[in-house]
Amino acid sequence: MWKWLGTALVLSIALIVQACAPKSQEDCGFVQNVYGERISWKSDAPVTMQLHSSIPDSMVPAILRAAETWERTAGRKLINIIQYPRYSGPIVPHKDGQNIIYLMDTWESNRASEQGRTSVYWIGDLIKEADIRLNAYDFNFYWNNQRLTTAVNPARKTSGEVNIEALVLHEMGHVLGLKHKDGAGSVMATYLSSGDDRVNLAEVDSSALQCEY
Ligand SMILES: [Zn+2]
Repeated sequence: MWKWLGTALVLSIALIVQACAPKSQEDCGFVQNVYGERISWKSDAPVTMQLHSSIPDSMVPAILRAAETWERTAGRKLINIIQYPRYSGPIVPHKDGQNIIYLMDTWESNRASEQGRTSVYWIGDLIKEADIRLNAYDFNFYWNNQRLTTAVNPARKTSGEVNIEALVLHEMGHVLGLKHKDGAGSVMATYLSSGDDRVNLAEVDSSALQCEY
């Protein structure tokens, strides 16, 4: 009897150890957790994203187009944009279980070169929340040859314009779990130049996406 109990104990300990050390995966362009597993929304996609009231109506078509570009490649709905009602909470992105796109009218002065930023929260290998901030303090945004917003920072009002669809496409890549990829024409390149209409996925982006979606 005691011998049997001992065996059972050893077996359950072995199972626990295995549960705590998942198998490492190829990164495939995705952020990985401490165990080397790719993080993504898995079967929780499509992701529902709300638009903060700071997003002007003129910017919505560009945001929808960016989501569609990822979806066309995946062949399914990935990011469900809720246009109305707009989320009207404080313009301070925080971990609240809601996925929101904010147009920020303030930005950290030591990060003034950053056009946008996506915060992703995950548990295990599953993304639970993602928020996109767009830097309308330091950057002028355009879409379809039209200026949509002018930088709040007086010193930046006459600087180059950034294609908002290209920027949102990149940030949505982060929402889906992708990390930066420089070269190969990837939309996940670290930098987006003013006037660059980088609104189409590169081959490398499509194959990365298909590893998880
Ligand atoms: Zn980025």
